[in-house]
Amino acid sequence: MSVLSESLILHKTVKKHYLSLAKGTECQVTYVWIDKTKEHLQCKTRTLNNEPAGIRDIPEWDAFWTDGDPTEVILIPVRMFRDPFTLNPNKLVLCEVLDSKRDPIGGHQRSHCVQVMEKVKRFEPWFGMEQEYMLFGLDGKPFGWSPQGCPLTGVSCAVGINKVYGRDICICHYRACLYAGVMICGTNAEALASQWEFQVGPCEGTESGDHLWMARYILHRVCEDFGVVASLDAKPFRQSVYTSGCHTNFSTKEMRSEGGLLYIEEAIRRLSRRHSQHLCVYDPHGGADNMSRLCSQSLTSSYDEFSAASGRRNVSVRIPDHVSRRGCGYFEDRRPAANCDPYSVMRALVETCLLGLTS
Ligand code: ADP
Ligand code: MN
Ligand code: MN
Ligand code: MN
Ligand code: MN
Repeated sequence: MSVLSESLILHKTVKKHYLSLAKGTECQVTYVWIDKTKEHLQCKTRTLNNEPAGIRDIPEWDAFWTDGDPTEVILIPVRMFRDPFTLNPNKLVLCEVLDSKRDPIGGHQRSHCVQVMEKVKRFEPWFGMEQEYMLFGLDGKPFGWSPQGCPLTGVSCAVGINKVYGRDICICHYRACLYAGVMICGTNAEALASQWEFQVGPCEGTESGDHLWMARYILHRVCEDFGVVASLDAKPFRQSVYTSGCHTNFSTKEMRSEGGLLYIEEAIRRLSRRHSQHLCVYDPHGGADNMSRLCSQSLTSSYDEFSAASGRRNVSVRIPDHVSRRGCGYFEDRRPAANCDPYSVMRALVETCLLGLTS
């Protein structure tokens, strides 16, 4: 066992003592925010004298970005969760990041998403995301793989120690999300050993993105405890056809009601006319990540051409079988990459499907 992994185990045992120490009514609040890359997260913690009853009791804070010129930024609390790492009454709080003029910084998308969702409130838009991720060891190698490579299962939902690695992480993340109040609705093993998925939703409007980002934060923190790294890279291996996506499921009140399939089909027609515009915002690099991910292999679709079907998965947009049978429900956009910003994805879906944007 390496010194690093030994000390990881030692720290966790010793840590229990300190976390069990009595404290007063103070509340530790961890501010979590999306960083400059729009792909990764940052956090820092402060003490409040009392437990906040809601988001309004949590004050703004500041931070600065050191990448390039140091920039002062303002952290605006937007959604509060329970802290599954230090437990009640402590909180995790997702924040928006503003610049000194109080504008969203560096193209951050949440406030734009809020504005668009306000316009389409009457449709009651629901979103559910399927977040795929891949585990790596501290040595940068896929977690648990032998030097010979991956025990290729090629199927998701596999069972058995020779087929899936790191289930403890998936289980602990699931429970930590439930404790926090994150709307996590399921998990499964993915096609590669050490590749996993969790699902968030369905929630209405911007909330879905908030819950996904907090679920990602919790995942990275759980992985710290286990001494592994969760990668949300869209294409973790250049050679492999296996990739990581963030399928986004979408519905409106009309789609969920009797006869809703007609509304689903109309939404898909509109999507077919704005394929390239969507791919521009379905990964944080203007489509570059998806260009290598969407290779029409292993249940991905084509980067260049839009496709849709019921009951098939190598398409841009899929209508789940049970939705076709019932004649209402939701559809699944399979194009967003694992590292996408859900606020951008949700905004594009709403602009195309509900606001009728065509260019
Ligand atoms: P798949 O068969 O594509 O792997 P999953 O079971 O992994 O599907 O995920 C289904 C997703 O659909 C979940 O994120 C869930 O929240 C979401 N979902 C379920 N019902 C709705 C709905 N009415 N509107 C939007 N999303 C929904
Ligand atoms: Mn300092
Ligand atoms: Mn899934
Ligand atoms: Mn999947
Ligand atoms: Mn899916």
